[in-house]
Amino acid sequence: MAAEQRMVSFFSPADLTELIQLYSRHPSAVLFAGGTWLLGREQKKIPVLGEQVINIGGIDELTRIHRTERFLEIGAAAPLSLLLEQAKRVLPVCLYRCLTSIGTPAIRNLAGLGGNLSNPEYRMDSFPVLFALEAQVELIGPEGSRRLPIPRLIDSENNLRLKPGELIQRILIPVESFTEELYWKHEHNFWMPETHLSVTAVARMEKGTISEARLVFSAFRRLVMRHRELEAELVGRVPPLSQRETEYLYQELDSFFQAAGPIPRELDRRMLILKALDFLSNLGSEATIPVPGRY
Ligand SMILES: Cc1cc2nc3c(=O)[nH]c(=O)nc-3n(C[C@H](O)[C@H](O)[C@H](O)COP(=O)(O)OP(=O)(O)OC[C@H]3O[C@@H](n4cnc5c(N)ncnc54)[C@H](O)[C@@H]3O)c2cc1C
Repeated sequence: MAAEQRMVSFFSPADLTELIQLYSRHPSAVLFAGGTWLLGREQKKIPVLGEQVINIGGIDELTRIHRTERFLEIGAAAPLSLLLEQAKRVLPVCLYRCLTSIGTPAIRNLAGLGGNLSNPEYRMDSFPVLFALEAQVELIGPEGSRRLPIPRLIDSENNLRLKPGELIQRILIPVESFTEELYWKHEHNFWMPETHLSVTAVARMEKGTISEARLVFSAFRRLVMRHRELEAELVGRVPPLSQRETEYLYQELDSFFQAAGPIPRELDRRMLILKALDFLSNLGSEATIPVPGRY
């Protein structure tokens, strides 16, 4: 039987205006940024991209990295390696650690944050970290631009909330300083999302007391969880935490993961909880203090 012949139209718009016009005429086209997920996901098979593909990798407005007083603004298609190099001094430590854990140097030369956040199936590595940093995405489309906090980028069914013809233009990370940060990731293999777990934590200490703490957990590249009530309860506590406090936090997080996830395996819940408790227990000690420039 003869193989089916399929024509693929590959567009390379010159700038953002041309991209918006083109994408609004072809809203079902596939956006091709670094292409590392689109080409890599089929592993050894020949990738099938779709009938219309729009290359957004070379568009200047999507690759700029800029810092204002309020935000670190990162173009959605700026390669991660460029970001790690250009913004090393201003990137939050947890994000720096997360980005250096993505793929290999060759992958990071192509891959960008826009493609990492817009995966149609999975919540990739930067999602929980940008959630903890309370970053926003700036979307642009035929109706203009709008901003969404990271968790609002997906709906309750885990689908992206992008309208037809809309794409991520920039990621805006508030310029804030935390005294302590953690990024921890565990997985057997990137292609086995069922083995993936991560914890992102940021905290601010003032005179030995926790004045702010944010904890975001992810599991199986599907669940991203933040327990805001527990974060509020942490404010005012003085580390090291007592055994009673640790036991309370353990029970609270365990019930949260059983209900909110759910994360059925006790071992997975345990790993997430112990990482978070380790971070909280060591707040204020040398172990968790990020030294600028030493990643
Ligand atoms: C060997 C290997 C290892 C990897 N390891 C990791 C890992 O450890 N952690 C991890 O998180 N990922 C990993 N990845 C997956 C991938 O490299 C990253 O998720 C990467 O950030 C994707 O970015 P990209 O620019 O290549 O996206 P692309 O592959 O170009 O696009 C990904 C998806 O996002 C859409 N898209 C792209 N840009 C936009 C935009 N601006 N607006 C709206 N939609 C958009 C595309 O249409 C597509 O559906 C790995 C991939 C490979 C091949």
